[in-house]
Amino acid sequence: MSEAWDVERIKEEYGFDPAALKARYLEQRDKRLRSDGNEQYLEVSGDFAVFAEDPYVEETIVREPRAEEIEVVIVGGGFGGLIAAARLQQAGITDLRIIEKGGDFGGTWYWNRYPGAQCDIEAYIYLPLLEELGYVPSEKYAHAPEILNHARAIGTHFGLYPRALFQTEVTDARWLEEAGRWQIQTSKGDTLRSRFLILSNGPLNRPKLPGIPGVETFQGRAFHTSRWDYDYTGGDASGDLKGLSDKRVGIIGTGATAVQCIPHLGQAARTLYVFQRTPSSVDIRGNQPTDPDWVAGLEPGWQKKRMENFNTLVTGGVSDEDLVSDGWTHIIRNLLFMVNQEGEPDLSPQALAQKMELADFQKMEQVRRRAAALVEDPETAEALKPYYRQFCKRPCFHDEYLPTFNLPNVTLVDTDGKGVERITENAVIANGQRYAVDCLIFATGFEVGTAYTRRSGYEITGKEGLSLSEKWVQGVSTLHGLTTRGFPNCFILGNTQGGFTANFPHMLDEQVNHVAYVLSELGARQKTRCEPSAEAEAAWVSTIIEKARLGESFFAECTPGYYNNEGKVNERSRQNSQYGGGPVEFFQLLAAWREEGTLAGLELS
Ligand code: NDP
Repeated sequence: MSEAWDVERIKEEYGFDPAALKARYLEQRDKRLRSDGNEQYLEVSGDFAVFAEDPYVEETIVREPRAEEIEVVIVGGGFGGLIAAARLQQAGITDLRIIEKGGDFGGTWYWNRYPGAQCDIEAYIYLPLLEELGYVPSEKYAHAPEILNHARAIGTHFGLYPRALFQTEVTDARWLEEAGRWQIQTSKGDTLRSRFLILSNGPLNRPKLPGIPGVETFQGRAFHTSRWDYDYTGGDASGDLKGLSDKRVGIIGTGATAVQCIPHLGQAARTLYVFQRTPSSVDIRGNQPTDPDWVAGLEPGWQKKRMENFNTLVTGGVSDEDLVSDGWTHIIRNLLFMVNQEGEPDLSPQALAQKMELADFQKMEQVRRRAAALVEDPETAEALKPYYRQFCKRPCFHDEYLPTFNLPNVTLVDTDGKGVERITENAVIANGQRYAVDCLIFATGFEVGTAYTRRSGYEITGKEGLSLSEKWVQGVSTLHGLTTRGFPNCFILGNTQGGFTANFPHMLDEQVNHVAYVLSELGARQKTRCEPSAEAEAAWVSTIIEKARLGESFFAECTPGYYNNEGKVNERSRQNSQYGGGPVEFFQLLAAWREEGTLAGLELS
């Protein structure tokens, strides 16, 4: 329970009424809550499978199927798979193979090549293995081509190209008990057998479409942002979409992706309609080229130190310095400043939560003022103001997005939380009005709350024929988010039941170091397989559920989105959530487990 607001004092001091704001946030949430939750979206299969096809491949690889016996198979050649391969090699494990659906390394950055795509976390902490490669990104928030090149550079640096099977999808993974091996089959007819299996499918790998009535009837050009159709739009990731100069374009969705590509669409299209259900919080970007003097002064270990500093600050921790110093860390600085200024170092958890909410209101008021200042038409500006707490949705940072709505060819079609009504052969219907379009772009995000094997696209079968889909039908069950009983020697990288951080590669690195440690220890103990004990797994699941309850009231009050399972917070979503103690605590917990040195909770044989 939060304490009552001292409304008059806050109004005088901060210039807003917290009770009124809170009521408005809840009203906005209620407008958007819907009974179908994740079911409102369409899977990109069947008639919609075309939306997931790879538009970037220039030449289809034709090769003989492989039949191989290796130590480690890694599924996914994004940052997770790359860091895994790099760290395993550093630990002396070199017999590995990476299976990647795309035509190259890069994962998210292979697929997301939309115009304007950019890292929204500082590149110096987001791009992995910078010190190992002796590389510093060219700007504070690197653009997608540079990030994709860095993924390729990791592949080259660690000699991973000869070990990768590109344009290859896993179709089945099965544990062979007698052989003590995983058998992995692929779309190219390969049969690989490996002692260990590392799954790094990516948390946002499967595009989703909105289940808007009539979506299947559209006859114009349509694509998802993660499969950008440059053949049609012209241009490249830096923009210059010449093909759209005579086109009426509609874009559905205004999340982090849309915020980055809409400025380019606005520049290029004859007419652009932006269909908005919920506005994003769009703060200052302030990108800068990298200062060579700063680079010259970097000491060994700088990247890890910077990553940890950011991680501490964005999860409410205290540090004397703010190395990244940007919109992500600002809200926490603001909070600490408020607490210190008022000389109340020993606040109760409730009082601290209230301060936190106050700092959040203050931050979001600034974000809303920014919309009002940058957008000329007052009605449009009002519609672009987000009314929810900053971390209910991915906060965005962009300097050209809001001014795009001042262009005469750009129209914001705000649906006041309702979404698009209908799609016809050649138009989008919203608010009862028809908007004729030649091209429809879905910036509608990726599957998050659906079953793991649906998102990975293949089944994983463990001991005694138990499939992962069956095992997790009531909810995910793991030890540390990484291993699951009945699936020996299988390691799953990702957020679920692990620690969530906005800087996802940081989490991947921590997980991979943990896996490398376990594999090395197995070798040292002359063991060949491990899986969690039933007790250890049950205890971890209980911890996850218990900790999830702590953050529940925050997410229950949020406007729906993938951060809160589309507004459906329940026992299953609790179990499928991340470690509620935050990533700093989670990383410490893993480190302490390694430090203890007994591989506690793992059964070895
Ligand atoms: P999101 O899921 O964040 O956004 C989807 C958008 O589609 C939302 O605005 C949603 O509205 C809207 N939408 C869905 N259904 C409808 C409908 N029926 N009618 C109208 N609008 C609809 O996807 P994104 O691709 O934008 O971002 C996904 C994630 O990718 C981000 O959260 C972030 O983690 C990551 N990302 C990271 C970047 C980086 O630089 N590192 C850059 C871009 C993305 P509503 O909000 O109402 O649901």
